[in-house]
Amino acid sequence: MKKLKQAKAIINRVRNYENALLSRTTGLSETLSQLLSDFLPEGLIEDIKQIDSLTPQKKRALLNYLSKAVEQIERNIPEKKKEKQSIKLKLQDFWSIKINDLKILKPIEKRAFRKIGVKSLYDALFFFPHRYEDKRLKKLSKIKNGEYGLFRLEVVETKKINRGKLKVQVVLKEGKDFLNVYFVHDRPYLFSFFRKGKEVILYGKVSVYGKEKSMIQPEIYNSFDEVVLDRIVPVYSLRGDSSVKITSQTINHLRRGMFKIIEKYLPYFPEYLPEEIRERYKLPSISQALKNVHFPEDTHNIEKLNGFETRPQIRLIFDELFILELAQAYRKSLIKSNPAQPVSVSENFVEEFENLLPFSLTGDQKKALKDILSDISKSSPMNRMVQGDVGSGKTVVAIGSALAVAQNNLQVAVMAPTEILAKQHYHNFKNILSKAGIEVYLLTGNTPPKEKRKLYKKMETGEAKIVIGTHALIQEEVRFKNLALVIVDEQHRFGVEQRKALIEKSGTVPHVLVMTATPIPRTLSIALYGDLDVSIIKQLPAGRKPVETVLYYEDERENMLSKIKQELEKGRQVFVVYPLIEESEKSDMKSVEEGFKHWQEAFPDKNVVLLHGKMPQEEKDFIMEQFRDKKADILVSTTVIEVGVDIPNATVMVIEDAHRFGLSQIHQLRGRVGRGKYGGYCFLIVPSRFKKKEQEPEKEKSRQKTLERLKILVKTSDGFRIAEADLELRGGGDIMGTAQSGKLTFSIADFTRPKDRIILEYTKKEAEKLIKEDPHLEGHPVLKELMMAKYRDRFNLINIA
Ligand code: ADP
Ligand code: MG
Repeated sequence: MKKLKQAKAIINRVRNYENALLSRTTGLSETLSQLLSDFLPEGLIEDIKQIDSLTPQKKRALLNYLSKAVEQIERNIPEKKKEKQSIKLKLQDFWSIKINDLKILKPIEKRAFRKIGVKSLYDALFFFPHRYEDKRLKKLSKIKNGEYGLFRLEVVETKKINRGKLKVQVVLKEGKDFLNVYFVHDRPYLFSFFRKGKEVILYGKVSVYGKEKSMIQPEIYNSFDEVVLDRIVPVYSLRGDSSVKITSQTINHLRRGMFKIIEKYLPYFPEYLPEEIRERYKLPSISQALKNVHFPEDTHNIEKLNGFETRPQIRLIFDELFILELAQAYRKSLIKSNPAQPVSVSENFVEEFENLLPFSLTGDQKKALKDILSDISKSSPMNRMVQGDVGSGKTVVAIGSALAVAQNNLQVAVMAPTEILAKQHYHNFKNILSKAGIEVYLLTGNTPPKEKRKLYKKMETGEAKIVIGTHALIQEEVRFKNLALVIVDEQHRFGVEQRKALIEKSGTVPHVLVMTATPIPRTLSIALYGDLDVSIIKQLPAGRKPVETVLYYEDERENMLSKIKQELEKGRQVFVVYPLIEESEKSDMKSVEEGFKHWQEAFPDKNVVLLHGKMPQEEKDFIMEQFRDKKADILVSTTVIEVGVDIPNATVMVIEDAHRFGLSQIHQLRGRVGRGKYGGYCFLIVPSRFKKKEQEPEKEKSRQKTLERLKILVKTSDGFRIAEADLELRGGGDIMGTAQSGKLTFSIADFTRPKDRIILEYTKKEAEKLIKEDPHLEGHPVLKELMMAKYRDRFNLINIA
């Protein structure tokens, strides 16, 4: 543009010259051809190159022509520019524009994005740094031991040394302050880079020892670079995948690439959060937020940034959780929008039900039952989860709910994950409900065909009110006359597919009750099961003895074995659980097979059996049955022991390599023992190295954390408190693992941060409010697009009926 203006000025001045002056004017050909070469066609430029030799008249004619041409170009350029600015990109464009096709990026920058799995513009903008480095220039004289800093220093000398690992030493200075920098490889480029007298830029961790300041293997730079130096910079890494090494060079390429993407495309990113919500929580705009999350303004302090406490970060944490909660609220409203059969419940139903029981219900059991009865009395489907520790008495609550439905002449299906559990439930249901004159039926893979056919008939006519089976129950060729309630045990989510299958089988949308023995902290409950209503049974029935939990170091194993011996002598049985070993993991862990041999050697006169995940199902069932029938004394296994199986005679649970387990997982496992009248023990074994203090502060910290974690199990038997501790210490991944729900992975939210847990509460509230006002998000198309892209498949966001 500048060139064009210059050219225009020259042309307009010269073309008004008188002929004499015009004929004397030379040098136009070179000046104008240079200035205009970018704007005019080649042929015209050739003409310009001849201009000095033309007659004054011809010169003027050409100049007049050029004047017009330049004006036209000028008119065109701003128009083009305007067009560019008014381009409105859609969310879709950010998904479809690929990093690989961007002309603004260098190949090496594209490669860096590929390395971290970022493919589209959207991926890039939403690939957030996990921390920040302060790379603002610092003074050497002000730095303290252990601090990182970026310095501009003058090279004093560079020499080879041989001090242990250190092979090259560079002495640098800033005024009167000196810094010794060491490298572990003797590389020629170091000597050409660190030339005496040259100014260089270094970033690294400074050690101060007495008067000496030193740094090992710093990042080195020739000159300043506004993107990656002298500012707070983002650090990108592959979350959760430490196998991919990202070097500081790669990170710099990412930074440069990200900077360009942000400059060029961010202004066009559509805002999706409702203005009202943004105002209520004082959240910056999406482009403000994205820009600052990647390249924070210097006014932010680095601690706040690394705690993810700045407004731009909070906006994005809010967004991530809000979209999740929106999906939950949306699904909930989809389910609720179907018609269900209301079940009428008499006023004193709970008291009458209690009369059938050999005990009275705990307060929590009553509360849960009342929640359920209130739900099923409505004409929109119940979608409720009952959470309670193993042994808290969930089954009784299920029985009560089933009774209410059966008394209405409607049907109930109870589904358990295994055949053993189905049988167990069958007996429990039958014991209680026979007193109310209601028959209970069992349907499993082993039911003889003749009986099966009879039962099918009874289900179809509605004579069989309560049928218990495995999940296969809904896959069978069954039809219900009037299925009103489905009870699902130990499965956390009753999927849309399963719901659909049932609607086909009975023509109605059933109420759904899910029961789980995994205590789930409120935060995770909201995040994972936001679409479910939750009832919690916390109190254990009176007189229940907690399992005594003891932590042993490997070298104290003998003590443990002698306790186990005492139990075995009393005729009790023992579970031993090993963590699941991945083939690739080189660790001090014994494999379950090896462990199995050790246990056989330790108890040569006892029957020790092995169970692991790779065995065929029939073999597993067979071994489980052997153990249940007391034909085996010690069951060594990976974590495949069926949830919910009652083996009252088992009193000891040994957890090998306990440090490898999540707390909630161990808590679940220890719930397997002490279920009978004998009480129980849980022994946690960790390697002896955990006894000794570690030299390195990081390792020592993690050693203490591990022990602290395991001691929580020793101290408390409250599953909810344990789950909360797990969440705070490990972010909930373990609980989600136990909860079989598939991990939720976040790109910026993190539940180990208390603030993020609070934000989740707000997003739930806002999401529910928005769905209430706009059930199909018709007024918020971009938001809906985002929600669908993330959760349509995962949450099955489709209507079922
Ligand atoms: P969960 O399914 O929650 O693990 P169960 O329903 O199997 O627990 O109950 C465990 C045991 O406690 C059962 O033997 C049951 O009969 C008994 N039980 C349940 N509720 C009570 C209660 N309120 N008082 C006494 N015992 C109870
Ligand atoms: Mg149970």
